[in-house]
Amino acid sequence: MSNQPKPNRILVIGGVAGGASCAARLRRLLEDAEIVVFERGPDVSFANCGLPYFVGDVIQDRENLLVATPEIFRERFEIDVRVHTEVTRIDRASKTVEVLKRTSGERYQEPYDTLVLAPGAQPVRPPLPGIDLPGLFTVRNIPDTDVIRAWLDEHQPKRAVVIGGGFIGLEMAENLVHRGLHVTLIEMLPQVMGPMDAEMVATVHQALQDNGVDLHLNCAVSGFERGDSSPLMVKTKSGLTFPADLVILGIGVRPEVTLAKDAGLELGQRGGIRVDDQMRTSDPDIFAVGDAIEVRDFITGEWTAIPLAGPANRQGRLAADVIAGRDERFRGVQGTSVCGLFGITVASTGANEKTLKRAGIPYDKVYVYGSDHVTYYPGSEPIELKLLFSPDDGKVLGAQATGRSGVDKRIDVLAMAIQMGSTVYDLEQCELCYAPQFGAAKDPVNMAGFIAANHLREDSPLAYWEDYEKYKDDPPMILDVREEDEVEQFHVPGSVHLPLGQLRNRLKELPRDREIWVHCGMGQRSYYAVRVLRHYGFQARNLTGAMKLYQALN
Ligand code: FAD
Repeated sequence: MSNQPKPNRILVIGGVAGGASCAARLRRLLEDAEIVVFERGPDVSFANCGLPYFVGDVIQDRENLLVATPEIFRERFEIDVRVHTEVTRIDRASKTVEVLKRTSGERYQEPYDTLVLAPGAQPVRPPLPGIDLPGLFTVRNIPDTDVIRAWLDEHQPKRAVVIGGGFIGLEMAENLVHRGLHVTLIEMLPQVMGPMDAEMVATVHQALQDNGVDLHLNCAVSGFERGDSSPLMVKTKSGLTFPADLVILGIGVRPEVTLAKDAGLELGQRGGIRVDDQMRTSDPDIFAVGDAIEVRDFITGEWTAIPLAGPANRQGRLAADVIAGRDERFRGVQGTSVCGLFGITVASTGANEKTLKRAGIPYDKVYVYGSDHVTYYPGSEPIELKLLFSPDDGKVLGAQATGRSGVDKRIDVLAMAIQMGSTVYDLEQCELCYAPQFGAAKDPVNMAGFIAANHLREDSPLAYWEDYEKYKDDPPMILDVREEDEVEQFHVPGSVHLPLGQLRNRLKELPRDREIWVHCGMGQRSYYAVRVLRHYGFQARNLTGAMKLYQALN
């Protein structure tokens, strides 16, 4: 604890995830301070993350979205929360803010010792033709969902177009399907869920299509028009037109930095407010947290803006600690996130392959096809897990997983592993819950560690399908160790078939002057085969991802 004098007048701008967390923590640490929260909208501390489910009627009681109210803040924390109240200017010289009471138009000044900016982000609304037509919505706060629900009730729409395949777009698509609408999802990129690598979202694309969502990838919207038979026509650059009774824009958010910019605070290249690792802006009396700021990426060390509730809450808490004189430091963001969609869970933490490539960080990867719990116990569900790690020291760099059950648990374990600087050798050793209903004595997280460590120790070095093309002049042999009936169903053109059970007796058929890349269906039999081959001096590698990945890639 420092001996610095504590501020006694702290103003917080924005009363939701970051702002509310900060204010409540401030009170717990500073009993004597005067704390005022200004919130432009009608609600504080509401559950943004629940909004799609309120639209979908999964959450039916609007009140459930209100995690806390101004009354709770006053009674429990003696915090003065002013809703419908916007801060319109910061005067750093006089350490005052200008406030607009939106209900009456009244303006007044408020002095501060310390100011906390938690103004969040604004949904992106690109200046496309027709963007202001009725029936086109963004989802950021409860009033946005009130308007959408009213539109649903009044117009009884049949067709919705959701633009953007990020988690808000996906959750809205699912919830509109729930409400009985036919949904078209348009995404500019070749995949939904940007934080995942492309091969890991094939199941999501499938789940969307299986549930009747008309998915259009690589498709950029060019504008909107009034339709004859429907309120809106959504036009794409490729010349497609989609009729819609309702359009949801879910194409990302932009940090809300107007106040900070006008006050001359430093902004970063990603457009967010620059803060140090104690959430302090370029003005030492002003802190900023949440979607409005830029932070360091935990893996790459680059500046980044990751609009998620977890970081916003923790940053708010940490800023309060620092304001109260504690020497806490923010460690950066890993982007740990999860999305549920038609029963599928998609989750990731740390860097993906795209990011590592861009940042020039060397990496290796493994794919694990495990299950949420042992397959002999009823109801087990498959989990696909991808682990990225450093080839130098085995440090875990990122992980992605999909499945119907137990996905979030594995990614949470790996998120903590990343934060603790753990390596794949730690994953080999980590001791996780196991009983037949819950996991396996060798959990998929352990398995990822085993496979990765086997690779780094050269017990069973890995090969990647996408590298095969690089060996045009001296191609490795692709050895398929599956059973006859599996090979008959599908095999890699040019591959050699030799079932695992016959391997030891037929070693003479295999070359000693070429690499042998071994695969099976899921990666386990090929591992056994690689061990046999390496014992007998062959240059064998295990094709990670096995046939399952080959089919996803081809
Ligand atoms: P916000 O929560 O947006 O709060 C900022 C507040 O500041 C706003 O209420 C705004 O009115 C107010 N404000 C702005 N300017 C002023 C001003 N000048 N004066 C007064 N008040 C002002 N994250 C997850 O991790 N998981 C999820 O599942 C998830 N789902 C989401 C679903 C939806 C539909 C949305 C919209 C977001 C979701 N998020 C999710 C993201 C998460 O909600 C945000 O990252 C988080 O709320 C950011 O917190 P914040 O405090 O920075 O901003």
